[in-house]
Amino acid sequence: MPVSAELLSKIFNALQEVIDANAEEVTVLDQAIGDGDHVYNLQRGLQALQAQTESLRALEWGAALQKIGMTLMTTVGGASGSLYGTLFVSMSKSLNQRTLDIPVFAEIFAQGVETMKQRGKSDVGEKTMLDVLVPVAQYMQQASSKPLAEMLVEVKKVAIDGMETTRDMLATKGRASFLGERSRGHIDAGAKTAQLMIGSIADVLLA
Ligand code: ADP
Ligand code: MG
Repeated sequence: MPVSAELLSKIFNALQEVIDANAEEVTVLDQAIGDGDHVYNLQRGLQALQAQTESLRALEWGAALQKIGMTLMTTVGGASGSLYGTLFVSMSKSLNQRTLDIPVFAEIFAQGVETMKQRGKSDVGEKTMLDVLVPVAQYMQQASSKPLAEMLVEVKKVAIDGMETTRDMLATKGRASFLGERSRGHIDAGAKTAQLMIGSIADVLLA
């Protein structure tokens, strides 16, 4: 099943827009408990994806997901680059030759998030992007037979709830863990950008 270049292009644009629009807010969060480079890392990766829209056009979804993952791994850098890279490479592997529909997407996304957990040696409750991605993956699997619009509206809420839970958590993974108890009281920057990106993809699909 070939990719929809129109859809990818809309998604890449929306992601860039939402990260740019929230850059300052996320950087303040990342400066509080990280090293302040998270937005810049993501922006570099999203620019690289934009530049690849044309070459992705010719691919099947499996190959496109693989290429997206490799691009993120090599351009985003940091913990988030390797984790998001892992997500897409894993999704490509579990898709295999199948047709990409909503239940299949929910399944391969959940598999991808599992692989991220292994890669990051982390799980929910550790104040990371996984506090958004894991509940979203779980919700999508359980709701994948619902009408798409209904599911997407709920996905946005689940992502916001997950992001909010990181505020009071103690960070035990990533740079924020170096701060120990002082990591409490701040939303994790990676959880915030995961929520923003999921929300913006949902909005593209809802439009
Ligand atoms: P780095 O931490 O290497 O500077 P980024 O600033 O791009 O990388 O990303 C930081 C984000 O990555 C954190 O806010 C957190 O959400 C996420 N993160 C870091 N380490 C892990 C991990 N082991 N597992 C899951 N997520 C992690
Ligand atoms: Mg950082």
